[in-house]
Amino acid sequence: MKMVIKNFSSIQHHRDQKRCEFDLLSKKRYNESCWARSKTDLAELYNYKCAYCERDLRKYGNITIDHYRPKSKSKYYWLAHEWTNFLPCCTFCQKKDDNFETAKAPQYNPPLLADGSLNYDFCKADSSYLLAEEPLLLHPEIDNPDDHFVFDENSGELLLKYHSIKAETTIRLLNLNSSSLCFERKKLVDDFFEELDIWLSELQMDKSDLNIALKILKIHQEKAKQKSDNAEFSFVWKYLQQSLSYKP
Ligand SMILES: [Zn+2]
Repeated sequence: MKMVIKNFSSIQHHRDQKRCEFDLLSKKRYNESCWARSKTDLAELYNYKCAYCERDLRKYGNITIDHYRPKSKSKYYWLAHEWTNFLPCCTFCQKKDDNFETAKAPQYNPPLLADGSLNYDFCKADSSYLLAEEPLLLHPEIDNPDDHFVFDENSGELLLKYHSIKAETTIRLLNLNSSSLCFERKKLVDDFFEELDIWLSELQMDKSDLNIALKILKIHQEKAKQKSDNAEFSFVWKYLQQSLSYKP
């Protein structure tokens, strides 16, 4: 998971919300085009990666839009068209489905203004109205995952940086330490160091200049730095970049 900056005040999305508000509030009827139209914008914003697990969405089937707070009629149906509630998601993380947990009582009632219309300021994922629930699922546009997780190169798992029910629940709800995810992440580390070792051992065999070996190391550092921004599992690349920086 990687933090992403999204403009929470999208005018176009607000227009869509207003247009569909009556049906949503009076009949709990969704208009799917409100989130279907956001697919491309969200995919580009997230570099075509799942907002939760960072799998490449183009490799694992269709891009789906997850409602961070579930849009089911018994829960947060009034957030069904809310832009800050949309996250691009892979088919694996889609299994989270209607699961969402909070430390305090959930706000299932829509926040309404005196005229009965929806209070859109309170619908934003970072509003005090919604944050009062103390959600136990990290939101990559509000929470910085780097504050919560560390990467374990031996197992490929995400470990907790400190005891946090929110980080723990996030891993559980999204199965972020599934065997397939751990395998992919560990493979990335193993392949990276294997390639680096081959380069360095060949240079030693040739008794080449140490400066060349350092240049190779620098190239690998640069590769890890670039990948740490946009590649699949960016936090693994960030970890690799940091681990190379510590080498003498
Ligand atoms: Zn995912």
